[in-house]
Amino acid sequence: MSGQPTRILVVEDEQDIAGLIKHTLERPGEVQVDIVGSGDVALRTITDTPPDLVILDLNLPVVSGIEVCRILRGRPATAQLPIIMLTARTSEADRVSGLDLGADDYVTKPFSLRELAARVRAVLRRRAPAADGEDKGAVYRGAHLVADFDWVSIQVDGEPIRLTRREFDLLRCLVENKNRVLSRDRLLERVWGYDRSIETRSVDVHVGRLRSKLGAAGQQIETLVGLGYRFVE
Ligand code: CA
Repeated sequence: MSGQPTRILVVEDEQDIAGLIKHTLERPGEVQVDIVGSGDVALRTITDTPPDLVILDLNLPVVSGIEVCRILRGRPATAQLPIIMLTARTSEADRVSGLDLGADDYVTKPFSLRELAARVRAVLRRRAPAADGEDKGAVYRGAHLVADFDWVSIQVDGEPIRLTRREFDLLRCLVENKNRVLSRDRLLERVWGYDRSIETRSVDVHVGRLRSKLGAAGQQIETLVGLGYRFVE
């Protein structure tokens, strides 16, 4: 990371929790953590000074976390802004519907601060520019799909496709390994960046959504039952 500290915005009305998160993540000169206590203030703050990552509680006064996420994803300037959601909801149905909102990751309360810190690092690592230039000039051109991974520009038959950060990373991983089978565990490790053994279903959910967003090009993502996924030429 160069020069500027990484800025994280914590959107949480429970001051004890927000304070603990700040205490855990803040590193003087490297990571700056700001706290706001409501959804409307969060939207104003993000518009005025866009952070590098948002930790967003679902349960907020005035404007809910779900609505904040929806609004951020709907704006071009923040469509790709990394968002980690805090949620007290634990049912599978809530998680899956939460994933549809386009958050990059989830932490279910009560959570360990170490777990949250690991997820923050994983999300920030994915957004950090490749230091060794490994992805430079990475443009894939297929029959339908044109994906410029440096410029975060994905088109199918000339039409721009809007992906969440996670879907984008997933597509990049699949394309970079084209014609090779990637297991769910491998995708979790490569795209999610940490061990989350019980959440392999997240991979299926994201692949399904990515595939439908890619339309005609979605067929290039093959499911190999019991093995994983493969992007084919
Ligand atoms: Ca709350």
